[in-house]
Amino acid sequence: MVIIGGGPAGLTAGLYAARARLDVVLLERLSPGGQVLTTDMVENWPGDVDGVSGFELADRMRDHALKFGLKIQSAEITKLSADGKFKVLSGPDGELRAKAVVLAVGAQPKKLDVPGEELLIGKGVSYCGTCDGPFYRDQTVICFGGGDTAAEECVFLTRFAKKVYLAHRRDELRAAGILAERVMNNPKIEVLWSQAPLEIKGEAKVEAVRLKKLKTDEEYDLPCDGAFVFVGTSPNTEFLRGVVDMDRQGFIICDRDQHTSMNGVFAAGDCCSKLLRQIVVAAGEGALATYAAQRYLEEVHE
Ligand code: NAP
Repeated sequence: MVIIGGGPAGLTAGLYAARARLDVVLLERLSPGGQVLTTDMVENWPGDVDGVSGFELADRMRDHALKFGLKIQSAEITKLSADGKFKVLSGPDGELRAKAVVLAVGAQPKKLDVPGEELLIGKGVSYCGTCDGPFYRDQTVICFGGGDTAAEECVFLTRFAKKVYLAHRRDELRAAGILAERVMNNPKIEVLWSQAPLEIKGEAKVEAVRLKKLKTDEEYDLPCDGAFVFVGTSPNTEFLRGVVDMDRQGFIICDRDQHTSMNGVFAAGDCCSKLLRQIVVAAGEGALATYAAQRYLEEVHE
């Protein structure tokens, strides 16, 4: 069995596969951890009453799987195809044949797709407050989005920035109640309701963003030193297009046992089409995907 991806879904799939004594390898193109590595503090992982840093949780998940003998290798897969009962995985590092595959390829932050954004990435435009927040001590930043990520990250940024604007395109946050409360109660945060970004301005670095008030169509420039984008995620599934069924946004469609439309190929975590993307859900799906894969192996390959 091959697991592609080393975030919470892949590492949990690996833990279960190693404990089931399957012949399994987990492939990860960077280092294990996934998006959790860019999370400052995880406070909804059951049992960690005081919260746990994203870094520590990722480390623990990796060590836990390694303890039971999971092999983790660094490799990128760019193609998946079928050859009879076998799946063929290939990429710049070579080719691998597997009897069953778990896709745990995760997702990455979506872009705003406004002028100036691409040009100023790393020069004030960021997709990770946890990573880049310390660069904005006593400065003014703006965040975009209204979901859990935007709420968590803009509160985190108040540790450094003197002022944090949160521009949201509606007049109600999508974020979970407790996170929205923290935004509303933080004196350093000013929410710019029903406003959308039109452009990120600056030469060598971000200097301002052009915003549009959606209820009046008024446009204006807001001076700032950093622009943080938290407008959702898109799945890392480009290489699977036409191979497994996906929804319109490219998230993989699975049945209730995490089986994809391709026989013997399962999926888990943030790359799957579903209502809620959380670490606990990813871990649960990883366990289920391995269990279903094990059943598949017994039925089809024994
Ligand atoms: P999300 O829930 O999809 O929210 C994206 C936000 O960005 C929405 O508020 C959306 O506005 C806004 N948006 C989307 N496209 C936009 C655009 N082009 N311009 C301006 N605004 C735009 O994404 P997320 O917050 O990154 O969260 C992703 C998943 O991870 C969710 O399932 C979330 O629950 C989970 N997560 C959980 C935690 C936690 O449990 N602590 C932390 C982080 C993330 P609308 O509201 O108008 O659609």
